[in-house]
Amino acid sequence: MSERPTPRPGVLDIKAYVPGRSKAAPGVAKLYKLSSNETPLGPSPKAVEAFKKASESLSLYPEGSSAVLREAIGKTFGLDPARIVCGAGSDELLNLLAQAYLAPGDEAISTVHGFLVYKIATLAAGGKPVIVPERDLTADVDMILKAVTPRTKLVFIANPNNPTGTYLPLSEVRRLRAGLPGHTLLVLDAAYSEYVRRNDYEAGIELVATSENVVMTRTFSKIHGLAALRLGWMYAPASVVEAVNRIRGPFNVNTPAMQAGVASLADSAHLERAAAHNEKWRGWLEENIRALGLTVTPSVANFVLIHFPETKGKTAADADAFLLKRGLVLRQVSAYNLPNALRMTVGTEEANRLTVSALSEFMASEAARA
Ligand SMILES: *Cc1c(COP(=O)(O)O)cnc(C)c1O
Repeated sequence: MSERPTPRPGVLDIKAYVPGRSKAAPGVAKLYKLSSNETPLGPSPKAVEAFKKASESLSLYPEGSSAVLREAIGKTFGLDPARIVCGAGSDELLNLLAQAYLAPGDEAISTVHGFLVYKIATLAAGGKPVIVPERDLTADVDMILKAVTPRTKLVFIANPNNPTGTYLPLSEVRRLRAGLPGHTLLVLDAAYSEYVRRNDYEAGIELVATSENVVMTRTFSKIHGLAALRLGWMYAPASVVEAVNRIRGPFNVNTPAMQAGVASLADSAHLERAAAHNEKWRGWLEENIRALGLTVTPSVANFVLIHFPETKGKTAADADAFLLKRGLVLRQVSAYNLPNALRMTVGTEEANRLTVSALSEFMASEAARA
């Protein structure tokens, strides 16, 4: 008999998720948070208005199935609202999928530079994370398929992936789906899909519509600028919707979030502005950071992965410290097996220009320790 309650196996193996820093070094006047892939444009003013309006009825429970939001999503994307589940962020949905499909010892595949939440959700559900290698910082369909066993219940892929910014074209996602056995659910996390401008990319709608074992998750935290409200959704086969609805909290999405989400979907002009800003400045950042002699992984998302040399004084950690003193908060990604890189969210023009000039100073400095 243990003297105190013990969590079930797996829980204590979890390294808790460490969010991007939101504080600069002491004494820094202005902070530029480029560490969590938040939008520099903020949410649609219409979403803020809807949020405020909803604050007038905080004593009432939310409508439990998020019907208004599912209907708005259905209308926007041409989907059956009955095949949509909303969640408190897509993180909640990823966790619910793990809880619904993993029995103790069941396996969930993700990739070596994949989003960390997959591993955490798997362990939390009592499952076994199986981490497979990538090729050129991109998920590799053959490596994933090679890792599949009779116990593989889930495959998690962020497309595009965070923190690499790389993506799989639809043809590769199709090949992955076709190679998976029927008992394996493919989870396509499309948190950054709105930023992708590639003809060979599709977020997952077509695959979900034509398969029994594919789910697509989406979020309001990135291009919609509503990260604080915790709002996400998934489009899934009816059987998956049914399973997840049995285990989710009955009021998992709050009314102000739901209403802000509906208003945000309707403001397509705002979303287009955000995507255009991103396209322009991501290209600018890639070009100007490369001009400093640094490697930048080509990104289709709203962030760039910058690789630093291993030379003492010029490492990713040195650069991070240097930038932090100037109020520029980037993201260290050693937890993603990328110890020599920093991830930078595409920011406002001011933040982008300041970061590039600070990096230029950093690269030029003798000791690079400021
Ligand atoms: C930011 C992000 C999400 C969104 O999470 P929310 O819980 O919806 O805020 C999901 N997946 C990836 C890969 C992300 O980077």
